[in-house]
Amino acid sequence: MESVTNCSMDWPCAAQRSADLAPRTTLKVGGRVEWLVEPKSPEELVAAVNVARGEGLEVRVLGGGANLLIVPEELGGCVISTDLLNYTFRLTDLEAGSELVGSETPPARVAPAKVSDDPRLGLWAGARLQGLVRTAYQLGLRGAELLSGVPGHVGGALAMNAGSRDWGFWDQVERVWLLDPGTGELQERAREECAPTYRDGHLEGKIALACVMHFEPDDKTLLKEEADEYLRAKCAAQPVTERSAGCVWKNPDPEESDGRGAGKLVDDLGLTGLRMGDAMVSTQHGNFVLNAGKTTGKQVLELIEEVERRVLDETGIQLSREVRQWGGPNGESPVLAPA
Ligand SMILES: Cc1cc2nc3c(=O)[nH]c(=O)nc-3n(C[C@H](O)[C@H](O)[C@H](O)COP(=O)(O)OP(=O)(O)OC[C@H]3O[C@@H](n4cnc5c(N)ncnc54)[C@H](O)[C@@H]3O)c2cc1C
Repeated sequence: MESVTNCSMDWPCAAQRSADLAPRTTLKVGGRVEWLVEPKSPEELVAAVNVARGEGLEVRVLGGGANLLIVPEELGGCVISTDLLNYTFRLTDLEAGSELVGSETPPARVAPAKVSDDPRLGLWAGARLQGLVRTAYQLGLRGAELLSGVPGHVGGALAMNAGSRDWGFWDQVERVWLLDPGTGELQERAREECAPTYRDGHLEGKIALACVMHFEPDDKTLLKEEADEYLRAKCAAQPVTERSAGCVWKNPDPEESDGRGAGKLVDDLGLTGLRMGDAMVSTQHGNFVLNAGKTTGKQVLELIEEVERRVLDETGIQLSREVRQWGGPNGESPVLAPA
């Protein structure tokens, strides 16, 4: 694979031509993309999007690839990865976090030994969710423990409003910095100006660069115990060590499904273990589709569609997807799609 910092495209950061995306997803399926671009600051990300716009390239954003099904073998345009934007900050020395985006060098990284009174954290889009869980309990901050065992980056969690049935990432968000890839405009938005819903941050085609999260001070030991307990419960209920993209479907309206979640509906219809090649519905949890060998994005999609057909036929419930899909029929639009 070719990795270049200076090339004919003049990317402002590291970029790989014809990069394999499969290893960058938790499902481990997907083809190559024309360009994989890896900014190491929000400013580089903004500059990379400007280059892509100037060249008329499609732009997609990749976090931890933990909620993603990539269908095609070849994807045009560029994928911007947030892998190198893995920073978490105390807000102590920042004026209410306003320097979180906009400075050339990152502010000092989080320093667990020096606990300040400010129960907030600033996070760049590539900050890891498990790093956030750890940092929060080490600092005695309540609010991230429900993310215990949830893979991915902060940008992906903002896009997905990741969380549990009754709690979502946005519940802890105070402010967010968004980039409009169509215009290059940077917007700082208060939580009240955003409209996240269950498993959807409604970013409306914007790229999340960073956010400030607020927490409640609490006992460190207690918080760690709770995070550990959530992780234990998650491991017991879900195939967390298998290759998957997490829950494929959102839970339906409980009134429509007699309170049954999507996984239970699939389970009750005897669809666990159903296969399409090496794509398989998990026998441990009906809402997970696994890569049980060398499956392809196409097979995974066919299996998902087959389960949806059978659930609809048997129960009348149309499952709605949580997993995001790149390419293939009804795949999501790139955040920038030049005419
Ligand atoms: C084993 C397992 C368990 C899981 N458990 C849970 C759970 O309990 N609760 C839950 O909610 N989820 C769960 N998930 C799903 C996943 O962890 C979350 O959805 C997570 O937030 C995805 O983050 P990501 O960075 O991997 O996003 P990606 O998969 O990389 O991207 C998902 C979507 O977000 C977009 N995106 C990514 N970054 C940005 C950005 N910076 N700006 C704009 N858009 C962006 C992508 O373009 C894509 O549309 C689980 C997944 C696995 C594999």
